Amino acid sequence: MPPNPNYFFAKYLVCNKTIIENGLLGIQEGRIVELRKRRLTDSGTDLGTVALLPAFLNTHTHLEFSSLSKPLGKPGNDFPSWISEIAKHKKKQGESLLTSKGEATEQGVNETLKAGISTVGETMTTPYDLNWYAHSPLRATLFFEMLALSPEKGDTLLGQAKDLAKRFSAFSPFSNLSLGLSPHAPYSVSQSLVKKITSLAKEERLPLMIHLAETEEELELLATHGGIFREFLEKIEFWTPAGFPKESRPLDYLEIIAQANTPTLIAHGNYLAKDDWNFLAEHPTMSVVYCPRTHAYFGHKEYPLREMLARKINVTLGTDSRASSPDLNLFADLKLVARQFPDILPSSLLSLVTTNAARALGLHHEAGSLEVGKRGDFLTVALPDSCNPDRVLDEILAPSSQVNGLWIGGEKAS
Ligand SMILES: [Zn+2]
Repeated sequence: MPPNPNYFFAKYLVCNKTIIENGLLGIQEGRIVELRKRRLTDSGTDLGTVALLPAFLNTHTHLEFSSLSKPLGKPGNDFPSWISEIAKHKKKQGESLLTSKGEATEQGVNETLKAGISTVGETMTTPYDLNWYAHSPLRATLFFEMLALSPEKGDTLLGQAKDLAKRFSAFSPFSNLSLGLSPHAPYSVSQSLVKKITSLAKEERLPLMIHLAETEEELELLATHGGIFREFLEKIEFWTPAGFPKESRPLDYLEIIAQANTPTLIAHGNYLAKDDWNFLAEHPTMSVVYCPRTHAYFGHKEYPLREMLARKINVTLGTDSRASSPDLNLFADLKLVARQFPDILPSSLLSLVTTNAARALGLHHEAGSLEVGKRGDFLTVALPDSCNPDRVLDEILAPSSQVNGLWIGGEKAS
C-alpha cells in the first residue's frame, strides 16, 4: 500500500492560467496526485497567504563560479577580456582547483535551492565530482562541456564524454542527475568536433547545449577569421584556422546540432538573425536561453524576445553564472524581463521559467506545471492579505515579492 498523500493548502494555486483559490495540492510518493479546492474536512499543512507555483527551472548556469562575490571584469567589458578574467580565476585556483570548484558548486546548489529552483541546466567541466550535486535534492541536467579546436584534444574530450554516457546509459547513477553534452561555442570547439558530439548525443539520446551568437565579435570571427576574438585566441595559443571555415554562420551550427533531434539549448543567441529564428521555429526540439542580467552586464543590444516569441520559438531564462551575474536568483532575472517588456503578459513571463524551461530540458512530462502525475516540485511566494484573485500573477511579479519556500518531490528543500 502506498503511503497516504501529503496535503498542502495555499491561498492560491497557480495551475497554468487557472488559479484555484483556497487550493489543495496532494503529493504521494513524490508526485502530484490531487489539485482542487480545499474542503473543510481536509487536513494537511496550511502554507497560508501564499501563491503556490511550480518550482522554477534555471536552464543555463555554471555553478563552479558561485563563490564569486561579484561578476568578473567590468560592466560593459568586451567578451574576450572577460574570458581572460575567467582564465585568471581558474589559474588562481591552481592545485586546489578540484576542492575550490567543489566548494563553489555546493554554494551554488544551496543558493539555487533558496531561489525556488528545483532543476538546473548545469555546465560541468573537468575536473568534476558528481557528489557535489548528488548530496542535494536539486535536480540537474549536467551538460558535460568540451572546448577544443585541435583534433587531439577533441578526441580526448570525446572519449571522456563517451565514458560518462556509458555511466549514465542504463540508469542514472544518482536519481536527481541526468547527463547532457555541450560543445562550448563555435570559437572554442572545431566544427568537426561539434558534429561528433552531435552524433554521440543522437546515439545516446542526450540533450545538447551550445553557447551561440553571444557577441558580435563571435559573428565577425566566424565570418572572417578576424577581429578582436582572433587576436585573443592567438594570444592564448588556442587559435587553429582549421577549426571552422571562413564565412561560417550561426545557422551552420544550428543545422549541425539539429541532427541530434534531442532537446537542444542555445545559450544566449543574442545576435541570431531572422534566418536562424525561422530555423528554430521549425525545430521544436530546440530552445533559446535568454540570460537577462548577464545580458545587461555586457551591455548588449535589447534582446529580441518579442521577435522570438512571436515565431513561437521556445524561449526560456537562465541566470548564467556569478562570473557575469550578481547572483543566482532567477526570479530577479524574470522581474527584469517584466520591466523590460511590460507588454508581455504575466502568464507568458512565468512560462519562461516553468513550462518553457521544462520543455527546453525535455522534462515537459515531469516538471514545469502543477498537474496530476508530474513531480511534486513547487515553491511559494508570500502575498499581501489584500491580494485579489485577478491580481495574483501581477503580485507574484511585483518588485518586492520573494520566494519563501521550495519543495522537491513534496519534501521541503529550502
Ligand atoms: Zn554559459
